[in-house]
Amino acid sequence: MSRKTVNIIGAGQCGTLIAIMLARHGFQVEVYERFKDPRVQDAEAGRSINLALAARGLNALQQVGIESLIEPVLVPMRGRMVHQQDGTTDFLRYGQQADEVIYSVTRLGLNQMLLGVADDTANLRLNFEQNAIGYDAPDHTVHVRDETDGSLYQVEADPLFAADGAGSNIRRSFDGSDTFGGVETLLRHGYKELSIPAGPDGRYQLSPDALHIWPRGGFMLIALPNPGGDFTLTLFLPNNGENSFEALCDEASVIAFFAEHFPDAAPLIPNLCDDMLNHPLGELGTIRCRHWHDRGNVLLLGDAAHAIVPFHGQGMNLAFEDCVLLDRMISDYHDDWSTIFARFEAEQLANANAIADMALDNYIEMRDTVRDPKFALRKALAFELEQRLPDHFIPRYSMVMFHANIPYLVAQQRGEVQSALLEEFTATANTMDDVDVNAAEAAVKNRLPPIDSVRNDLSVRRS
Ligand SMILES: Cc1cc2nc3c(=O)[nH]c(=O)nc-3n(C[C@H](O)[C@H](O)[C@H](O)COP(=O)(O)OP(=O)(O)OC[C@H]3O[C@@H](n4cnc5c(N)ncnc54)[C@H](O)[C@@H]3O)c2cc1C
Repeated sequence: MSRKTVNIIGAGQCGTLIAIMLARHGFQVEVYERFKDPRVQDAEAGRSINLALAARGLNALQQVGIESLIEPVLVPMRGRMVHQQDGTTDFLRYGQQADEVIYSVTRLGLNQMLLGVADDTANLRLNFEQNAIGYDAPDHTVHVRDETDGSLYQVEADPLFAADGAGSNIRRSFDGSDTFGGVETLLRHGYKELSIPAGPDGRYQLSPDALHIWPRGGFMLIALPNPGGDFTLTLFLPNNGENSFEALCDEASVIAFFAEHFPDAAPLIPNLCDDMLNHPLGELGTIRCRHWHDRGNVLLLGDAAHAIVPFHGQGMNLAFEDCVLLDRMISDYHDDWSTIFARFEAEQLANANAIADMALDNYIEMRDTVRDPKFALRKALAFELEQRLPDHFIPRYSMVMFHANIPYLVAQQRGEVQSALLEEFTATANTMDDVDVNAAEAAVKNRLPPIDSVRNDLSVRRS
């Protein structure tokens, strides 16, 4: 008997991971990717993005058994190193357990590794330079152009997984219909990638175990370590206005801007002007859909379904969580795609909306609130409450980053209650000595049910 074929558009992180999972379920999997194989062609200059990998992403990699492959290229980050305007730094750890760290990984490196595993997986074929140019709903077919010779052909959506990223042609083919009801909201801020090379003897020029942030109110610079001793920096800035990418239009304005706002970082960036003036300006936005599937034919997943801004470091982690959920549903419902797609949407859509909101909140926290001394005090109280009542109180950041089995929606809802409580008990305090921790503990017990009652079985419980 011939195997049933599943077609996937996009060999990014999400498309490749779901392809591996589907092939392991016994389907014949065909992946169509518009670009050349990134293992034989260098990444686009100025887009050497690195990503923070957290529990949800690690959980997914663990499920397909490639966690150990990836480990050597991960750089653990234990907290945020906040670089104040006056050059002083404050280290704020992310969590209190030894394993509560997030990992810096290059997007290209992770993609290459996933593609290598996909290549070694039976029943899975990667087709590069094949561009899905549109979807024909009545015929349930995708129109594909072979970029090597310009020829056109069609691929059946029986079913089709659309993992073709935020600008998804498949999703956009449905614009004007109610099928997905996708709405794209662009942020008025963009980003550019810069870099700090390794110092003498390959040494890191900043401490490598932290995500560095230079918060400046309306904008910020961040730096994530790479395994080779260098750092990838990302400048997030409004597109227009006084301090904006538009205003940084020549060497003099770039040098003056960095000297004023990032005087400690500027000397570490040798190609500052070149990179600022020549690297592409990245867009940031959120995509929210009312639906992710067209009956049993098409499913949007990953950024195609729910791109989010990068300030919680969760876009890829969410995309990987999609794959874990689908993998579980395929075990339960085999090839009953209508049921799988409907259940997937019912379980995950509210979670995607929740992390989209939290990611937007986090931009304000990273570029601004983190500078407030009360931020550190609230964090100290949150850690104290977590120690006293680990079954009731887990800081929101930790729920999102370290607890893969707490749905994003639950993290958001509990986070709101927790945030109000932290505000209340630190309102008139300057240090922890001023806080009535016993009263705060009693309030937590009163206002928050035990966390176990809301955990789901999405993932293995952390040991
Ligand atoms: C600056 C920045 C920082 C980020 N930091 C983090 C972070 O720290 N942590 C985190 O978890 N996430 C982060 N993200 C988000 C993360 O990069 C994305 O959520 C993730 O890459 C989504 O994976 P995907 O496979 O769904 O989409 P993509 O990675 O966009 O992959 C889509 C694939 O589809 C292909 N494709 C597109 N159109 C077609 C077509 N017409 N035909 C065929 N193929 C097509 C593309 O070439 C691509 O290979 C960040 C994003 C940005 C921009």
